[in-house]
Amino acid sequence: NSFSESGLRGEVLECCKTFDKPSPIQSHSWPFLLDGRDFIGIAATGSGKTIAFGVPAIMHVLNKRNGRPAKKRNPLCLVLSPTRELAQQIFDVICDAGKPSGVQSVCVYGGTSKGPQISSLKSGVDIVIGTPGRLKDLIEMEVCSLKEVSFVVLDEADRMLDMGFEPEVRSILSQTSSVRQMVMFSATWPPAVHQLAQEFMDPHPVKV
Ligand code: AMP
Repeated sequence: NSFSESGLRGEVLECCKTFDKPSPIQSHSWPFLLDGRDFIGIAATGSGKTIAFGVPAIMHVLNKRNGRPAKKRNPLCLVLSPTRELAQQIFDVICDAGKPSGVQSVCVYGGTSKGPQISSLKSGVDIVIGTPGRLKDLIEMEVCSLKEVSFVVLDEADRMLDMGFEPEVRSILSQTSSVRQMVMFSATWPPAVHQLAQEFMDPHPVKV
């Protein structure tokens, strides 16, 4: 239960330098997430869950990015969030955490013009964070391809389904790589979330 025992390397832990030790969800999720396991975390906001999945997402990019083109590269990680406010918060954390290692992220959500989001996507990014509706639009416009996405996070999965995003979530997940690591965070575990996990995750995900 210390950052030095986490197996994470220095530059990705820069974002944690003001913290004494990993939060419980971080110390319980990192070993599995770094080992490539599918993972379900029942955790509320305030538990440190953003860094729990954000730092492994950055590690995933670092492990895969050798030989990738600098420009026009497709994203390797996707984080779906129910609301633009949460998407922006996740983006801020992942951007900060990825900066020392040069990992590029973009945040896409509705209610604002698509132009800047399209420009970022076209310039090449490693991690896409977004809300389901806008992301689906951008995929349909062919400005975002998820075919190389092999690390997927559904944050606040219960809220995402409550808000009626299930069709978009399914459509988006079906366009990611078939060889992918799936991570789901949810505050509750209703049947609809369970069903989604059964369909899109490994048959024996780790549940914490
Ligand atoms: P989250 O649950 O991701 O929204 O995080 C809630 C708050 O906890 C944020 O302000 C984080 O900066 C903070 N936080 C994340 N990890 C730690 C940690 N290991 N120790 C102390 N605070 C943390």
